[in-house]
Amino acid sequence: MTRVIVVGGGNAALCAAIGARERGAEVLLLERAPFEQRGGNSRFTAGGMRFAYEGNEEIRALVPELTPEETARTDFGSYPREAFYDDMGRTTAYRTDPELAGKLIDESFDTLRWMAGHGVRFLPMYGRQSFDTDGRARFWGGLTIEAWGGGQGLVDSLYTIAGRLGVDIRYGARARALAVKKGKVRGVRLANQEIAADSVVLACGGFESNAAWRAQYLGPGWELAKVRGTRFNTGDGIRMALEAGAASRGNWSGCHAVAWDMHAPDFGELDVGDSFQKHSYPLGVMLNAEGRRFVDEGADFRNYTYAKYGGEILRQPGQFAWQVFDAKVAPLLRDEYRIRRVTKVSADSLEELTRKLDGVDAHQALHTLQEFNRAVDRAAPFDPAAKDGRATRDIDPPKSNWANPLDTPPFEAYGVTCGITFTFGGLHVDSNARIISEDGLPIAGLYAAGELVGGVFYFNYPGGTGLTSGAVFGRTAGYSATSLTKKSQNR
Ligand SMILES: Cc1cc2nc3c(=O)[nH]c(=O)nc-3n(C[C@H](O)[C@H](O)[C@H](O)COP(=O)(O)OP(=O)(O)OC[C@H]3O[C@@H](n4cnc5c(N)ncnc54)[C@H](O)[C@@H]3O)c2cc1C
Repeated sequence: MTRVIVVGGGNAALCAAIGARERGAEVLLLERAPFEQRGGNSRFTAGGMRFAYEGNEEIRALVPELTPEETARTDFGSYPREAFYDDMGRTTAYRTDPELAGKLIDESFDTLRWMAGHGVRFLPMYGRQSFDTDGRARFWGGLTIEAWGGGQGLVDSLYTIAGRLGVDIRYGARARALAVKKGKVRGVRLANQEIAADSVVLACGGFESNAAWRAQYLGPGWELAKVRGTRFNTGDGIRMALEAGAASRGNWSGCHAVAWDMHAPDFGELDVGDSFQKHSYPLGVMLNAEGRRFVDEGADFRNYTYAKYGGEILRQPGQFAWQVFDAKVAPLLRDEYRIRRVTKVSADSLEELTRKLDGVDAHQALHTLQEFNRAVDRAAPFDPAAKDGRATRDIDPPKSNWANPLDTPPFEAYGVTCGITFTFGGLHVDSNARIISEDGLPIAGLYAAGELVGGVFYFNYPGGTGLTSGAVFGRTAGYSATSLTKKSQNR
């Protein structure tokens, strides 16, 4: 029987372990975190997963509990493969590896159906990804379903499935190096032990939790970012593979980073999950310490800007910003604005509000907001579920959609800084999830999935693609680590 070691304990590792067991391997999963903190970044997510679909049929295949009444009052729209390709191309400035992106997109629905077949439950993401218009919930951003119970629910159910299938799981087990014999990977070294295997799948995250690597690769200042998720993703898998001769690949100076509460702790907290994020800025404006706007808050739907705007906030003086809204849009703010641990001020006038913004030039801030209000062209009606073209005129930066004057008290402002999610650079992997060496050949017995795969995301990211990528490449890595290794043994 083929022995496979999977390094990691998040979505990608669990899908790899389940895939390998399905193909008949004996599987050992090494999770660095203790049991209580298992599950990596995957556990901190909302469980939102992007996939290509033509219409209601695919949604129903993943959410069999959906009632006819729910279907009737929901416009799920469609998200064809071409749209997914366009989004991957546009957000990555067309640098995404076509083979890897193609696989991710083409296998997205099938992989989610595979997960559902094993017992993962999904539901429509009504709260965060649809707006009610004309009595119907309209989905607007290609991200339509989430795992039941969010990231926590997803991870728990994958661990249950893996356990049921007979995957051997060890917690507090940090892999430190690969055992390589005669050019083949033959196991993994822990602090005091070497464990032999026929193949190894690395699915142990990027290097977002390593402050020194962040400063080294992402650039000066990135050591100051808060980490949104697990503290355990310090780049071990990438380092181990590079030491074994793997080629590095992708956007090593790029990462996914978002607007995150300025007083959030240095690493994620499981009881808050992703709720320190503040993603309703398309409905308002953002001001920096100088009291100036610095991005087009309405350049696109949140799903296509949020992952790069964290970096924009990091580049502002003092690495912070305030998001400002008025009472007209307050009911539309996402659930994360209503948590207890939020940095918020409110006031009945813009003068009073700008004086309350800690660290901000209040005089300039007031001027910026008044100038913004004058610049809003009210010709196009406001529609949060569409790119409504309701824009500003003659100000820089512009606001291209959802521009409403801030004129209805009470006004609210939320203090944010940069929260890093995961890094984009990683290892060269082919579409069979084999890790490629610097000489351009697969390294025998070595596979990868998840955040540490390089070449998929550059500069930006379509929301909800990380979990799908981990699942697609995880399942493939599990299959390849079993079947391809078996074939090479039989040769
Ligand atoms: C707050 C937050 C919200 C997010 N929301 C979403 C969302 O809704 N949808 C979406 O698609 N994506 C989301 N993401 C991104 C998503 O989390 C990642 O893309 C995805 O979970 C990565 O999966 P992974 O298995 O590669 O990594 P992880 O889930 O991070 O797993 C890595 C695992 O490796 C383990 N590990 C690390 N080093 C070692 C070692 N040396 N030995 C053994 N184990 C090791 C870690 O303990 C961890 O269990 C979010 C991320 C965060 C932080």
